[in-house]
Amino acid sequence: MSTIAAIGTPHGKGGVAMIRISGAQAFEVAEKIFIPASRERFSQRIHGHAYYGSFADEKGVFDDGLCILFKGPNSFTGENIAELYCHGGLLVTQKLLSAALKNGARIALAGEFTRRAFINGKMSLTQAEAIGGIIDSVSEKHLSVSAKQANGSLSRMLGAIYDELKLLAASVYAYIDYPDEDMTDISVSEMRQTLIGIKARLDKLAGSHAYGRAISEGIKTAIVGKPNTGKSSLLNSLCGEERAIVTDIAGTTRDVVTETVRLGDIILRLSDTAGIRESDDTVEKIGIERSINAIKEASLILAVFDLSRPIDDDDKRLISAIFECQKQAQTVCILNKSDIASDFCHKLPFENKVSISALNNQGLDSLVEAVSLLCGAGDIGEDDEIVCNARQCASVVNAANAVESAIKALDGFTQDIAGMDIEAALAAIAEADGRQVSEDIVNEIFSHFCVGK
Ligand code: GDP
Repeated sequence: MSTIAAIGTPHGKGGVAMIRISGAQAFEVAEKIFIPASRERFSQRIHGHAYYGSFADEKGVFDDGLCILFKGPNSFTGENIAELYCHGGLLVTQKLLSAALKNGARIALAGEFTRRAFINGKMSLTQAEAIGGIIDSVSEKHLSVSAKQANGSLSRMLGAIYDELKLLAASVYAYIDYPDEDMTDISVSEMRQTLIGIKARLDKLAGSHAYGRAISEGIKTAIVGKPNTGKSSLLNSLCGEERAIVTDIAGTTRDVVTETVRLGDIILRLSDTAGIRESDDTVEKIGIERSINAIKEASLILAVFDLSRPIDDDDKRLISAIFECQKQAQTVCILNKSDIASDFCHKLPFENKVSISALNNQGLDSLVEAVSLLCGAGDIGEDDEIVCNARQCASVVNAANAVESAIKALDGFTQDIAGMDIEAALAAIAEADGRQVSEDIVNEIFSHFCVGK
């Protein structure tokens, strides 16, 4: 396999930048561009030691810094790796990379280092994907889940299920091959029980994906409400800065402003829309249509009402729109302006209600709690595995469906059919953790990684 190189640190100016070189020729490439301060010490090539020296290309020395060598297979990729740390300027970093490329390395593709780590058996696919999660995470929960999974927690869980299914498959084959002899040590009812247990674990895992997605990729959210209820103010307090225009004139937030904000551990992909109310104004009308579209498209609705005023027809129209779209269960009813609340009794037909003051940033904690419960946080225990990734979730669902078919087949006493379903479940799990996965899927996964990872 060719020796690859890329800048491992973000593009831009910084104190330090790192170039990573991986492959059979990594040390040789590094030696051509790194002049160690102590040649004698560097020649020992001790794994993991940092050597100080200068970096040079054909024009001469252009910087100084460190070189660390990792000997394969005990390295991130499983190959020899040289990491070169130079000063973090744009030109100097580019020159160091160019020097590596001129001296035998080729530029790495997106995710190619991690891909090699996977191909060389250094990590499972779920671990590789979790590394992507560590890099992408903006919430504490996503980071902690990713860190755990990068350490192999999800792989181990899937691996345990895989092993149990394999035992069952072996037992089924023993029965099929020698139906008249009692070769199996697992009875049909034991097999059924084991499958029911596995199904429950897979269902729980698949069920965690709604929350997993909400903490990683984010949940599509619509902030709706008639004008002046405080949608822009809510958006501002969620964003922590003045991004949307706040105004007293009804109907001025006309455009759909899209923002990604973090609410506790949940990522909201927001669109702040114009109020839902009938209007003759063309621009305003577009806003209303968009509001209804936003309700249809969103998985979470933040419906804002003004506690200082009685509920009017505009509010009622919004409520009807939410019910017509059957989004009431995914709606958090936000009773805003609690600081100037009157005695109006807001008996609104929503399960999830919170009272806040967007202006004074009050009550946001209860909003955080309501939103995370809606995203399924309540069903997930501290140590439960969470599937953040759609691909993994699809495989887990496929596995669960296959296990369900196997259970049904056993009910009809057809072990051979159950055997085929168990095989299908094994294949789905093998795909989830990458022990058996197509080249196309691997390419697709790693193409989403950044270059240098
Ligand atoms: P939007 O039209 O729904 O986006 O409403 P805005 O966010 O523009 O708010 C309309 C008016 O209500 C502005 O004058 C805000 O300052 C005010 N407002 C918003 N939230 C609150 C609140 O919690 N308390 C009080 N007292 N005023 C608020």
